[in-house]
Amino acid sequence: MATNNNPYYSRTDSTKLHVTNKEWLKILPTNVYSIAREKGTEWAFTGKYYKTDTRGTYYCAVCGNPLFKSDAKFASSCGWPSFFESMKPDSVLYVEDYTHGMHRTEVLCSRCDSHLGHIFDDGPAPTHQRFCMNSAVLEFEPES
Ligand code: FE
Repeated sequence: MATNNNPYYSRTDSTKLHVTNKEWLKILPTNVYSIAREKGTEWAFTGKYYKTDTRGTYYCAVCGNPLFKSDAKFASSCGWPSFFESMKPDSVLYVEDYTHGMHRTEVLCSRCDSHLGHIFDDGPAPTHQRFCMNSAVLEFEPES
């Protein structure tokens, strides 16, 4: 669990976090840190959730913020867990990203500002958006 030795983790406290990368480096597993705090990307078809279709909720693996419901997840051929909407409009933040010679929109967790992935406009109805997320920065809790 991401809660181990992570004093900032909460699924209920939505208070904005201001934690330095130096501090996160001590707390987060290496693969989570490199994606969340260094804007890395896991290899397609390698993450733990790209095929998951169980009912439940996806939380931020860094801070516990509720991010996506399984109802908004869809089977995408891209190799990353894909959603057509976030749990609430303010669950995530959007930042323009001009790296790697592309113009993309980056998606951040609104509570801890961790990088989650990118959003594209080729998703299914009703939103036609595709939140292309990294499994490593998500934590799935199946519905009981
Ligand atoms: Fe977070």
